[in-house]
Amino acid sequence: MAYQDRLFSPYFHAADFFFFYVFFLLNHWIFRVQKWEDFFLEALKLELFYIDGACQHSGYCCQNITIYKKGIRIDTPSKFNALCKKEPVYTRFTPTIEREGIQHFNCQCLLPNQWCSDHSNRPSLCKNYPASNFISDLPFYSGCGYVVKQKPLPTWAKHPSLSSLIKETNTLHQRA
Ligand code: SF4
Ligand code: SF4
Repeated sequence: MAYQDRLFSPYFHAADFFFFYVFFLLNHWIFRVQKWEDFFLEALKLELFYIDGACQHSGYCCQNITIYKKGIRIDTPSKFNALCKKEPVYTRFTPTIEREGIQHFNCQCLLPNQWCSDHSNRPSLCKNYPASNFISDLPFYSGCGYVVKQKPLPTWAKHPSLSSLIKETNTLHQRA
């Protein structure tokens, strides 16, 4: 199963969970390397949760957009111009510029009925939502048709860091 598809699958991959959990414990007890702990907790999060629902074509993810490239926010006209030069697909976005720089972008391809007029050529930014938000610990847009759901936690996985991870993820994605 492709990685992207796994994010949307409610199936619990017990062997993968066990693998990451054992390495998480080994690191926690012996090596104590923070970045490894973060890596294993992230991997466990992806095994413990999945994305459910479907796009309702609300268009919320196509408005007031923040663009990141390689972890860097595109928040100045010069960064945006450089991005458009490298990847012309981004010229569809119109920046809203205030004194501090680019506040957000809107998309010229968003139709009045909230559908995309260039769906097959949309940039990776659009293709990766909502998985990108889930992976980056960002909430989904309010009113989005996608939700994050939890898979059952194995009874033998009792480390308190897992409980915190589950609580934080559920809090981040809870719906009003
Ligand atoms: S390209 Fe399409 S999917 Fe992407 S922001 Fe614009 S309207 Fe939305
Ligand atoms: S915010 Fe969610 S429901 Fe709305 S258009 Fe984007 S993916 Fe679809």
